Amino acid sequence: MPSDFIDLHCHSTASDGTFAPAAVVRLAVESGLSALALTDHDTIGGIEEAAAEAKRLGIDFLPGIEISCQYPHPGTMHLLGYGVDCAHPTLRDLTTQLLAGRDTRNPKIIAKLQELNVAITMDELSNEAGGDVVGRPHIAAILVRKGYVSSMKQAFDKYLAPGGLAYFDKERLTARDAIGMITASGGLPILAHPVQLRTENDAQLDRVVKDLLDLGLAGLEVIHSDHDESLIAKYTQLADRYKLLKTGGSDFHGTNKKDIQLGRARGNRIPRRFFDAIMARLKKTV
Ligand code: AMP
Ligand code: ZN
Ligand code: FE
Ligand code: FE
Repeated sequence: MPSDFIDLHCHSTASDGTFAPAAVVRLAVESGLSALALTDHDTIGGIEEAAAEAKRLGIDFLPGIEISCQYPHPGTMHLLGYGVDCAHPTLRDLTTQLLAGRDTRNPKIIAKLQELNVAITMDELSNEAGGDVVGRPHIAAILVRKGYVSSMKQAFDKYLAPGGLAYFDKERLTARDAIGMITASGGLPILAHPVQLRTENDAQLDRVVKDLLDLGLAGLEVIHSDHDESLIAKYTQLADRYKLLKTGGSDFHGTNKKDIQLGRARGNRIPRRFFDAIMARLKKTV
C-alpha cells in the first residue's frame, strides 16, 4: 500500500528552490510521501534528474511546471502544468519564451540596484541561480547575504516586490496561451493557489475560474501553504461545482522559504487521491 500523502507543488535549484531535483525527491521519500510533482517556474530543467531519482527510490513522479500569467495587480495568476511531455516541441517553445522574459528583466533590476549603490552584478546573480531560471529570490538571497536587508521578505518589500525600489515586471504569457501550450504539450493546466488572485469577492473568483474553464482549465489547487481551512473548503466546493480536478502542494522552495516543509501545507497534508485522479485523467487524454 503506498502512503496516503503526496506533494504536487515544489521547486528545485532548476528554478528558485535550494535543493537539487534529486534531493527534493529524496526528501519526499524521507517525509513518507508516495508521489511527488516537481513544478519549477518556467522550466523542466530538473525533471530528468528528479524522475531518475524517483524511479531509483520507487516513488511515483509527475513532471510539472509553474507559469506566471498576465493578471491585473495586485493579484498574481500562476498556472501549473502536470504531466507535460518534456520532449514536446511546444513545451520547448514555451520555456524558451518564458526564459527570454526573465533575461530582459534581470539586467534591469541589477542596473537599478547598482544605481542605488547596492554592490551586485549579473555574474554574481548567475552564480547564485546556478541554472537557467534566474529569479527575484536569487537576488533576494544575495541581498540578505551581503547584509543589505535582514530577510528575504525585507528584500522583496524594500526592493523587489511591486512598489519596491528596483521592481520591474517580466513579460508574461496570457492565460490563454499558457493553457493552450500546456495542453498542446500533453499536460493538464491547473490554477495554482487561487488565493493569490486576490479576487474581491466570490462572484469575481467564480468569473475568473469560469473564464479559465472556457480556455481549457483542468483543475484547481485547493490545498496550498497560503490556504487556511476556510479557503480549502471554498476552493473544494468551487472545483466540485465545475467538475475540476483538485490538487495540492506545499510550494516548497528549500531555505528560500524557510517556513514551508515538503509535504505540508500549513499543517495540512495532501491526499494521495489527488494524484490518482490526475493520473486517471492523463490516461484518458492520451
Ligand atoms: P520571479 O519568478 O523572479 O518573479 O519570483 C517569483 C518568486 O518570488 C516566487 O517563488 C515567489 O513566491 C517569490 N516572491 C514573490 N513575492 C515575494 C515576496 N513579497 N516575498 C517573498 N517571496 C516572494
Ligand atoms: Zn518560486
Ligand atoms: Fe506560484
Ligand atoms: Fe510555486
